[in-house]
Amino acid sequence: MASPTLQWPPDITESEAETLTLLATTYALSHGLVYLPVASIQPPAPTSSIHAPLSLFPSPIPRNQFEKARRLQNTYNVLYARVATDVEFLDRVMGEEQGVGQVDEFTGQLWRQWKRLRSREAGIVQKLHLGLFRSDYMVHAPQSTGDVSLKQVEFNTISSSFGTLSQRSAQMHRYLHSSTGYFGSSPYLKSENFPPNSTTSGLAEGLAAAHRAYGVPESRILFVVQPNERNVFDQRFLEYELLEKHSIHVIRQTFDELAISAEVDPQTHVLRIRPQSKQLADSPSAVEISTVYFRAGYTPTDYPTPAHYDIRGLLESSRAIQCPSIPLQLAGGKKVQEELTKPGVLEHFLCSTTHAKVFTAEDLADIRSTWMEMWSLDQGGDEGVSRAREHSANLVLKPQREGGGNNVYKDAIPAFLDSLPEKERAAWIAMRLIAAPKGLGNYLVRAGGTGGAVKTNVISELGIFGWALFGGDDGSVDEKEVGWLVRTKGEDSNEGGVAAGFSVLDSVVLV
Ligand code: ADP
Ligand code: MG
Ligand code: MG
Repeated sequence: MASPTLQWPPDITESEAETLTLLATTYALSHGLVYLPVASIQPPAPTSSIHAPLSLFPSPIPRNQFEKARRLQNTYNVLYARVATDVEFLDRVMGEEQGVGQVDEFTGQLWRQWKRLRSREAGIVQKLHLGLFRSDYMVHAPQSTGDVSLKQVEFNTISSSFGTLSQRSAQMHRYLHSSTGYFGSSPYLKSENFPPNSTTSGLAEGLAAAHRAYGVPESRILFVVQPNERNVFDQRFLEYELLEKHSIHVIRQTFDELAISAEVDPQTHVLRIRPQSKQLADSPSAVEISTVYFRAGYTPTDYPTPAHYDIRGLLESSRAIQCPSIPLQLAGGKKVQEELTKPGVLEHFLCSTTHAKVFTAEDLADIRSTWMEMWSLDQGGDEGVSRAREHSANLVLKPQREGGGNNVYKDAIPAFLDSLPEKERAAWIAMRLIAAPKGLGNYLVRAGGTGGAVKTNVISELGIFGWALFGGDDGSVDEKEVGWLVRTKGEDSNEGGVAAGFSVLDSVVLV
């Protein structure tokens, strides 16, 4: 890292760790850095919460790399907006006739819904798309070169979570610092090294921008949510911000509820939702929706029947702005991430003079500097697979899925390749493993466990949030970088994913 002698976490005594744990968990519980507990019986409304898993110390990120990642978010916002509006590219890469949709049922289902709407007489009636993005990185510090840089893990275009909770975990570390000075344990722990983080207002601004663009002030924003979601507070803070700062009302519904409550006017294509009675006591009639924000729909289990894909298609068929639209969700596929690394593809999206803004060679070089090598398993006959076998010790294989727990790592790769039908190769990419710095640790605290903080070696993942509103006739992209997230996991776990229970919420100390 910045200094080869950086020792993390700094030395503290056992009783200091206990003090920090008490201050951290009480701060978390009193400031909404919380989850719903795993409930065996679901009461009509929640009666308790538990603190989110958290780290006692923020994690070190080199200042220049952190600033670069935030800067690059503006380019990434535009890049993914352009991918989502390049129909020919998405058909080729993700479609059912030529791309991943042929072999991956989930991708195929989404693509077919989109294709059907494009082909109908009315076509796509809402040109605008909204993206709330999170670009994820890890520090890459290969011992062979001594270089330190951030490399992109993935780019999320749907249900990018932990925005509002990450603001709270940053505030918690700031509080631990103001309250205890971290017992003078490290010269890095000073206030100018704790970067600000205002994801809540930033993400809500993106949703409010779409709502304004829709142009019907009294319409509402629909949050499409999963039943039994435990990470509800992360979503609710956006809801409160929309109401308090923008006077915009939100309705939350699951796909199953929408199956009964959603209707699209055949003439005007206005989407209307009948609220559940408990949601809107004052307004039993259907309300117009300006923007559909998906915190569900990113994984096949959200669509247990074909009818669930039809509900997604119904929402997409309307005038409401989709966050994300189906093409924007497809643009976030791992296969697209890999395709972007092929020669000329980035130039196609960022340097064409047909675009409203043309990027420089330096911008492109900066973007490319964040990539690890990737290739497709169906590349060049058997070549993609044999290369994956050869390099398996330094690889991860990824399918077209989100939400963690889907990848195949290192030693597990050869046997996996033996069992993978040839036809399914096209659904997978191979990616070089990012070499996270060795020897960094932290104290991790989980609610309910054995109690207390566990000191362990860790790997951290930095996410940068951004939004983009795009698709209008002038080809411009209204976009912003709006904050960050750090998730930290024990060194020996391959996967990240706070929701999946493998990692904790953390924050940044710049070094
Ligand atoms: P998902 O969309 O399911 O979150 P990711 O691409 O983020 O998929 O992969 C899940 C996790 O796997 C990441 O959070 C990270 O911990 C690990 N991972 C993914 N790609 C790499 C990589 N190239 N090097 C090291 N770890 C990786
Ligand atoms: Mg993802
Ligand atoms: Mg991820």
